[in-house]
Amino acid sequence: MKLILLGAPGAGKGTQAEVICEKLSIPAISTGNIIREALKNGTEMGLKAKSFIDAGKLVPDEVVIGIIKDRLACDDCNNGFILDGFPRTIPQAEALDAMGIVIDKVIDIEVPDEKIVKRMSGRRVCKDCGASYHLEYKKPAKEGVCNLCGGELVQRKDDHPDTVLDRLSVYHEQTEPLKSYYGNKGILCVVEGQEEVKDTTALTLKALED
Ligand code: AMP
Repeated sequence: MKLILLGAPGAGKGTQAEVICEKLSIPAISTGNIIREALKNGTEMGLKAKSFIDAGKLVPDEVVIGIIKDRLACDDCNNGFILDGFPRTIPQAEALDAMGIVIDKVIDIEVPDEKIVKRMSGRRVCKDCGASYHLEYKKPAKEGVCNLCGGELVQRKDDHPDTVLDRLSVYHEQTEPLKSYYGNKGILCVVEGQEEVKDTTALTLKALED
């Protein structure tokens, strides 16, 4: 199955992608994670992307399209994949079509902006492995420490409230038109993000079966 997870930054795409990845045994591909990894490793692409990410802006289409092209050519994508955070613009969606990739379903996780701002201010990520936590909804076993690798938990620079507002306006302007793009193809499923992660997960899994 070839899936796209759509939704505002902080809507919980990453968490749902992990669940689907485990359930269907297909890789979850997050362009955000790939870019952050490149940044950590100081690659040329990472350095190019840094100023865009820090400002809450989108990295240029040609850069992310290149990343996705390379990643989808890997063998583990042969039986399908979940795209988390790609496409984020109409030209990116068109590039996916031009690669001859036929998407089965697009799951759009809807969360109102006010809730997103609240959620993102509590989000923490592991400095070492990138695992995601939340001060209220997904607490680590030990405060400030990653359950998986023991790394330090920090707030992403782009999760600071001012940057979150910028990211939301970028989302409404550039990413939201994808709802009509995929709605017109008849493959859009809307999931209302719930207060509890497990409830959103139940709705996501149901959307996969429908
Ligand atoms: P995310 O972790 O998905 O919220 O992505 C973090 C940041 O990476 C975004 O705010 C963008 O700057 C950049 N990014 C990730 N995916 C894309 C994409 N498909 N197009 C452009 N920029 C992206």
